[in-house]
Amino acid sequence: MSKVALIRCESYEYDIVKRSIERGISLLGGVSLFAQKDENILLKPNILVGDAPKKCVTTNPAVFKAVTEILINAGANVTYGDSPAIGKTLKAAKKAGLTRAADEFNIKLADFKTGIDVFFDKGLQNRKFTIAKAVFDNDAVISLPKLKTHGLEKFTGAIKNQFGCVPGVLKGEFHLKLPDADDFAKMLVDLNKFIRPRLYIMDGIYGMEGNGPRGGTPKKMNILLLSSDPVALDATVCRLINLNPEYVPTTKYGMQAGMGTYLKEDIDLLGDDFDSFFAEDFKIDRKPVKSFKSGFFSDFLNHRFVSKPYIETEECVQCGICVSMCPANPKAVFFKDNDKSTVPLYNYDNCIRCFCCQEICPESAIRLKTPFLRKIINSI
Ligand code: SF4
Ligand code: SF4
Repeated sequence: MSKVALIRCESYEYDIVKRSIERGISLLGGVSLFAQKDENILLKPNILVGDAPKKCVTTNPAVFKAVTEILINAGANVTYGDSPAIGKTLKAAKKAGLTRAADEFNIKLADFKTGIDVFFDKGLQNRKFTIAKAVFDNDAVISLPKLKTHGLEKFTGAIKNQFGCVPGVLKGEFHLKLPDADDFAKMLVDLNKFIRPRLYIMDGIYGMEGNGPRGGTPKKMNILLLSSDPVALDATVCRLINLNPEYVPTTKYGMQAGMGTYLKEDIDLLGDDFDSFFAEDFKIDRKPVKSFKSGFFSDFLNHRFVSKPYIETEECVQCGICVSMCPANPKAVFFKDNDKSTVPLYNYDNCIRCFCCQEICPESAIRLKTPFLRKIINSI
């Protein structure tokens, strides 16, 4: 039986957050299960690209700081980090308000720049990874995901949070190699199985609905979720936002890979009442993920069934980040005639629907459009 603690927490006021996390950890059996004296523990918040906490893109500093203090009080040596999609970790962590919290406890950034090659023979999809040295420099990882929607995998939760342990641009290569959402999810599951965080503490005090993981709308959910089973944690969040957990590929393959369970009857919910958090109207696409397959016939289907990104031209500031981040070769989003004073255009024939452009746009100007035929089929 997997345990998931649901803890009501209605604000980011530090003392309240800390008490709530302590309560969650105690319901799971106490801090000594997750950190011992003198152990080196790596905290892995979601920094994505580094946005101000009020945007609700990143793990809130109050959550990060509270976990840090709890671990330090338990005698652990704590470091932290993430590899953002663009830019340097320190700059992104500063913007996300995490460095200030880290400085208060004098904890240092771990090495997320140097990659170490590993072979993982238990991988479902991927047996070779390059993983940030930080993971190997520590005895264990504690993952601090944020509750958010996601273009490719529908929902970004406990399992997907470890993708930030792949250094820098190498993340884009996975999108290119694995354009299919199912294959990509299996790779995330493999990565998670290799890293095996000891504990996941999800910041859902404010989550993000709609055009996540960066351009959506903050949604007050008043909840912290804690578990050592990432599949059970993600499945519980899915149920809270009225989404079938089997429609989230990371959850489905996470269970297949033996990483945990999404079955309701095998999850022991602790803490506060599930129904008091239920957000039936949480804005998220509730249909199964339509995967992108390559090949001639599949291309025909992709154009008719798989969502495509587009730019709201009046919101675009022509920064070109989407163009530089697009992993497709040739680029699927580009400046016509290389004119950087114009809004980029899409060539959907080259687009692998990885949604990196939508994830990264600092103005939230990139949205996803469901093809007409899929809308009709969905409504039948
Ligand atoms: S990242 Fe966003 S704002 Fe920048 S060029 Fe692309 S669409 Fe425009
Ligand atoms: S245009 Fe966007 S969705 Fe398409 S391949 Fe490039 S980054 Fe991915």
